Amino acid sequence: MSRARPNILITGTPGTGKTTTSEMVAQELGFTHINVGDWVREKALHSGWNQEFECFNLDEDKVCDALEDPLAEGGNVVDYHGCDFFPERWFDLVIVLQTNNTQLFDRLQKRGYSAKKVSENVECEIMMVVMEEAAESYRSEIVKPLPSDTTDDLERNVATIAGWVRGMMGAAR
Ligand code: ADP
Ligand code: MN
Repeated sequence: MSRARPNILITGTPGTGKTTTSEMVAQELGFTHINVGDWVREKALHSGWNQEFECFNLDEDKVCDALEDPLAEGGNVVDYHGCDFFPERWFDLVIVLQTNNTQLFDRLQKRGYSAKKVSENVECEIMMVVMEEAAESYRSEIVKPLPSDTTDDLERNVATIAGWVRGMMGAAR
């Protein structure tokens, strides 16, 4: 590892618990939580609103430029539902959160998503789109799927991820 502190990517279908998990992991480790979706909105790292998919069209170059300096530092928990356009070298650990259909459906409905957007995302989870994207983009040794159905899972995942990261930092010394 070329950085004193690793960078973690927490990915998964919308609603699987990326932001909740990332905040807790960052808090636990004293790392910086970077919510890429928030950055895209706040720093306008997009090329406008996509009417069909009800999301911003990501400007991947702008996103990568904005992330380059903080990621070079290390000590980040990056939270995003995609992962194939980040440089592979940025991440030391890639977590893919997974949630069962009924749970995910409820969470997305509560979020006020349209019926179409709810079903698209549930289908994305069933087809394991993000898992496959992660498997194609990163070395298999660093890609870790974790279940995120219950609050017990959440607590356990935070402890597990923090343990892995502490192990990496210990090994690097
Ligand atoms: P994402 O960032 O992946 O879209 P969020 O972290 O915003 O997901 O979580 C979506 C909703 O699901 C929130 O209301 C959150 O409290 C809840 N949630 C997240 N993870 C879990 C979990 N493991 N168990 C139960 N509820 C969860
Ligand atoms: Mn989120």
